[in-house]
Amino acid sequence: MSRRTLGPLALTLGLPPLTYSFWLWLRDHGGALVAPSLRELIANVPPPTGRAVAVYGAWLLLQVALQQWAPGRVQRGGELADGSRLSYRLNGWTSFCVSLAVVLVAVVSGVIPPGIVYDEFGPLLTTAHLVAFGLALVLYVQGRGAGRTTRDPIYDYFMGTTLNPRVGAFDLKYFCESRPGLILWVLFDLSLAAAQYQRHGTLTTAMLLVCAFQFLYIADYFWHEEAILTTWDIKHEKFGWMLAWGDLVWVPFTYTIQAYYLVDHLHALSPAATAGIVALNMAGYAVFRASNIQKHRFRRDPTRPVWGRPPEYIRTARGSLLLISGWWGIARHLNYLGDLAMALAWCLPTGFEHPLPYFYFVYMIILLVHRERRDHELCQAKYGVDWEAYCRRVRWRIVPGVY
Ligand code: NDP
Repeated sequence: MSRRTLGPLALTLGLPPLTYSFWLWLRDHGGALVAPSLRELIANVPPPTGRAVAVYGAWLLLQVALQQWAPGRVQRGGELADGSRLSYRLNGWTSFCVSLAVVLVAVVSGVIPPGIVYDEFGPLLTTAHLVAFGLALVLYVQGRGAGRTTRDPIYDYFMGTTLNPRVGAFDLKYFCESRPGLILWVLFDLSLAAAQYQRHGTLTTAMLLVCAFQFLYIADYFWHEEAILTTWDIKHEKFGWMLAWGDLVWVPFTYTIQAYYLVDHLHALSPAATAGIVALNMAGYAVFRASNIQKHRFRRDPTRPVWGRPPEYIRTARGSLLLISGWWGIARHLNYLGDLAMALAWCLPTGFEHPLPYFYFVYMIILLVHRERRDHELCQAKYGVDWEAYCRRVRWRIVPGVY
């Protein structure tokens, strides 16, 4: 079996048990990393309950309906290889607000118990897995029918065969990337906070911080929805198991580890620790948001001042401009550093008893370092000597003075 097949196969078979292990460590071992035997793990995979399927199915239908019909301006995405551009309806902010309102009404009226995520986590996890695996299969079959497959079905299933699979104007990748999993992440947090309150009659500062920080991150994402159109995933990644499973399973079920952990860990945070964590999160957010928006505005209007001065930049032979002043003159991806600072701030409220709640931070380091490398290679191939000149001017990749 070739390396090209082995990696996808290992990830497709290995990541789902890992997500179940996270849940079992949290549910049965208070967050301690106790290696379960494979038999134990398989015995603990719950089938999807009727309630989990109903809730998850209704959730997906609500998101499809909102993506399709909620008001929002239509924007064209980046230029594709054939020179065309696809149109996207940017109604994420409306969908986010309406989703929160619908769930609030469902909880207040007694249709959904507030702590349902804690009670149904396992069956919801299985349901989301079935949807993700099924969706990837449909995408593969569709790509095969269109003659877009290679000789390697495992690789094609994993990486996808089509950049922008659509049903009419409905863009499946854009939808999965930006809607069901991301909004569910916020709702899972809130439901886990409700579970803490139901089980212990209290809402800890740590839980409030984690919920507030992640809520801010997702709200910001939808407020700046236009930026999604220029992300790596939308521009370059085909839509297969990797993105479908990542969007539908990985994001809502593993990014909420801290909140799940805090349900039964009620330690107090000192005012000084709270202030330090809030400061770290807000500093990370400021760098992340300001650097991303600076690049976006510069690309739209290269004459606009950067930090009060005319921007310095390199004009590439391809015509694109590379900003070398402001945040983009300090490091090539200071936006990633902001993300990492926030990631750490989301873990620190959990204390230092167990390493598991720090998984998100470690994962983000791996993800963003790997992403920076891929982006570097892509830009090098695209801009050649101009990119090398940029790298000489801006030496640091992510952390000034360190990396
Ligand atoms: P960037 O927003 O950094 O975009 C990189 C691209 O910008 C390059 O490919 C190049 O594209 C262009 N570019 C690079 N340098 C310059 C420059 N100096 N001046 C102008 N343009 C430049 O990367 P991502 O899309 O990966 O990340 C966006 C945000 O999303 C980040 O803040 C990141 O932290 C966050 N993120 C969060 C994740 C999560 O799970 N929480 C996952 C991934 C990202 P070109 O020249 O072709 O336009």
